[in-house]
Amino acid sequence: MGKIRIISGDITQFTGDAIVNAANESLLGGGGVDGAIHRAAGSGLLKECATLGGCRTGEAKITGGYNLKARFVIHTVGPVYYEHSPEENRVLLQNCYKNSLEVARKNECHSVAFPLISAGVYGYPKEEALSVAIETIRRYGEDIDAVLILFDRGAYGIAREKFIEFCD
Ligand code: ADP
Repeated sequence: MGKIRIISGDITQFTGDAIVNAANESLLGGGGVDGAIHRAAGSGLLKECATLGGCRTGEAKITGGYNLKARFVIHTVGPVYYEHSPEENRVLLQNCYKNSLEVARKNECHSVAFPLISAGVYGYPKEEALSVAIETIRRYGEDIDAVLILFDRGAYGIAREKFIEFCD
């Protein structure tokens, strides 16, 4: 039986099977967590990403982890909040977690770390992003040990208020 934990920290430091990257559709690097992952992984990651032909919003693609302590990086693209209706945003964000978990499972990953997808420059309200993350990981991640790694203090503060049972 898998479990979910919420911790505060930097996803690039995660030791385990896979980390999930909140990428953009080009998969050619960006700011935020994407930039941090590419810096920590080294240039091999960008080279492999360039062969993938991009990734649609809500979908997920896997690469090697290169210099990271995780074996794989699963790249998913969250919705840009202001481009969609609330219902569409929710479905697209659920798809990110669901498809990332499916890709993880296909690659025999048992421990997977997630950032709070779309909750940075893509503008998804943090509390809603957190509840979508927790609900969807619970629903589709039964067999996986998932860790939600929150980088900003504000998001971790919300998690401690609303989801204390998952917080370390
Ligand atoms: P998006 O474009 O999907 O909004 P961002 O990278 O801007 O992606 O932000 C997604 C989330 O990742 C934000 O909550 C941000 O605080 C967080 N983040 C940024 N750097 C890191 C990191 N090194 N580890 C974990 N989370 C991070």
